Amino acid sequence: MKKTILSGAVALGALASFAMLSDEDAARAARATLAKMTLEEKVLLTGGSGTMTLSAIPRVGIAKEWTMSDNSSTVRPQMNRWDWGYTSPKSENTKLPSLSALASTWDPAMARLHGEVLGAEMRDRGVDELLGPGVNIARTPLNGRNWEYLGEDPCLAAKMCVPMIKGIQSYDVAATVKHFCLNDQEWNRNTVDTHCDLRTLHEIYLPAFRAAVQDGEVLCLMTSYNKIDGLWASENKYLQTGVLRDRWGFKGLVETDWGGQHSDEFSANNGGGIEMDRGDEIKHHYVPKTGKLPLLDAVKSGRVSEATVDEMTLHLLYVMAKTGFLTDAPRKAGSRNTKEHQLAARTIGEESVVLAKNEKGVLPLDAKSLRKVLVLGKNADNPQCGKGCSGEGNVPYEVSFIQGLGNILGKDVEIVHKPLPKGEVKASDSAELAVDLSGVERAGGHLDKDAGKAGDANAPGLDELKALALASDATIVFTGTELGYDGNMESEGRDRKNMLSDPGEDESVAAVLSWNAKNTVVVSRAGTPVGYTWTDAASTLLMSSYLGMEEGNAIARVVFGEVNPSGKLCHTWPKRYEDTGVAQMGTYNGDEVVYNERFYVGYRWFDHKKIEPMFPFGHGLSYTTFRVSDVEAKSAGPGWNVKAKVTNMGKAAGREVVQLYVAYPDAKVERCEKELRGFVKTRLLKPGESETVEMFLSARDFAYFDELTHQFTADPGRYELLVGVSSRDIRGRCDVTLKGGRHTFPGM
Ligand code: BGC
Repeated sequence: MKKTILSGAVALGALASFAMLSDEDAARAARATLAKMTLEEKVLLTGGSGTMTLSAIPRVGIAKEWTMSDNSSTVRPQMNRWDWGYTSPKSENTKLPSLSALASTWDPAMARLHGEVLGAEMRDRGVDELLGPGVNIARTPLNGRNWEYLGEDPCLAAKMCVPMIKGIQSYDVAATVKHFCLNDQEWNRNTVDTHCDLRTLHEIYLPAFRAAVQDGEVLCLMTSYNKIDGLWASENKYLQTGVLRDRWGFKGLVETDWGGQHSDEFSANNGGGIEMDRGDEIKHHYVPKTGKLPLLDAVKSGRVSEATVDEMTLHLLYVMAKTGFLTDAPRKAGSRNTKEHQLAARTIGEESVVLAKNEKGVLPLDAKSLRKVLVLGKNADNPQCGKGCSGEGNVPYEVSFIQGLGNILGKDVEIVHKPLPKGEVKASDSAELAVDLSGVERAGGHLDKDAGKAGDANAPGLDELKALALASDATIVFTGTELGYDGNMESEGRDRKNMLSDPGEDESVAAVLSWNAKNTVVVSRAGTPVGYTWTDAASTLLMSSYLGMEEGNAIARVVFGEVNPSGKLCHTWPKRYEDTGVAQMGTYNGDEVVYNERFYVGYRWFDHKKIEPMFPFGHGLSYTTFRVSDVEAKSAGPGWNVKAKVTNMGKAAGREVVQLYVAYPDAKVERCEKELRGFVKTRLLKPGESETVEMFLSARDFAYFDELTHQFTADPGRYELLVGVSSRDIRGRCDVTLKGGRHTFPGM
């Protein structure tokens, strides 16, 4: 096996940003600029001057328009001023893996690298603000945007979004954490009313946002489309003033999701931010000097105070000052489509691939022993980089799995690629898909009507495929989902209609597995869990999310052992939708959603109800095995230093992810069976080599949100620390005792 490329080897080695002013200097610069502005100019800045821009006001020193672009894994081409078409010619940018892949690396160094590539490409393109990362928690496997988020666990999402944000902002540009908050489904996202109790909100759905603000120092935040307890998220004073500004101390810019503002006046008076996609309002009525924006009327007639408008404008000017945009400071130079960025895309992808099963040791395949390889399934050659609505990109190239395979096997090995036979989509299936697409259109999504119809008319019959498989040295079946709006695909603006594969696909995979052909490997590519029916019959399974432009190389290098897989699932994979907390207790529909499953989300639910998942959260094997030993916790300052020794017991070099969960044997309030509170990925350990990993815990990590006092609170008592390599593979335990009275954590 060749050596794995280690995270460090592709680090861009970013220097500190040039321009980032101290908070005080930025606030001072913002105030000085505000003092020069007329009311009309301030109001002008409380909304977009086009689809992805904010106005220039050269008179006060804002020399250029502030430019934004989606998304969390590429810098999407720039939009036209008044519509959702791309400016011509469309720019090309590196496309990195999706965020559910990034989360599956469980490696903050990968998140930093991911962020740095985005920051560098933004600077090269002249983009000031990136509309990412998305940190909504995977409440249901049906959410059409799970692939754009960092998984089901708040600790994982928090610890991965912080370095990503820092990486982006190290290039003197702004990141935007989104969608704040409870935008945990796409079904009727523009109108759905969401109800979630305060404890669940603070313990599950807000921690990643809080980490982005307090640890990542993110400069911008986007509100969500949905309502929360009857109020639009963009007009929710409790969240935007009470939580975000007062509790967490956010100083940056709040902006609505595109078209997510409903009343300028109500929003301004309730801590709302600037309005993006003012659409017709600004297009038809905006004349700076005559100032026809509704907010201006509201200020002139005393319904909104000028001080409120000052506040909104100051937040923006502060962000402009922090990035060097306002003061015209030299900002760090960027670069685009470099070999380093492409290598980063591949490395992040490789580090994210999860080896779910390898019972017969079929993987890694030995390239030298193969003469003929059969690859089945359209996903092996089905480009995704240009799909996914606001998550899409435009890439200089995209390597499919077939190409990645060819890059390793060379010309002497015959690669035969055939689609799998599938069933037909029934009319009733399409009817179920009739969910609200208005958000899609607003977001510039084109409906990928032609992408991958479920029934594949050109697929050979199973008998023909069986003959091919039996005559091949290896059979690789590629299954999963894809991005787009057809069939049961994943995308923004609508959810998957169920957790199933495309009609007929599971039956075809099961048939292939029954042939006992040599070296049969299944590869699943999906951004969210799929309820495969054949996993018991599969001895060998690799799982991947969307990996961007280097996807084919990344997966092929894992298949052939050029990289030893070290990814871990960022979602619990349920056997069936009916097993999930949302299905059993919560409500999930298009009008009014109640989070009755409360904080039992993902593995918390499966632990609570003792349900066996298909694969547990945090699961992922390796081509070697690791022993985890010597688990201990020593008191260190305000907390505990938790140590574990990891030893590579096998024959291949590899990396392991050590996961630290907390359990609450002395709990006085209802608690989950265990909760992730830390993790570390080891360096590449040679056979026989050991590493002692360390994780720091403090009383904060034991806290729950007390709805009576409205504070995160940790009660004194015994806490159990579980150290494992998945949420269901715990290798060592120890106890710590929290002394004193109740601990509370204001600001948390
Ligand atoms: C999406 C956001 C995106 C925005 C701008 C919205 O529809 O929800 O994630 O950043 O459009 O494209």
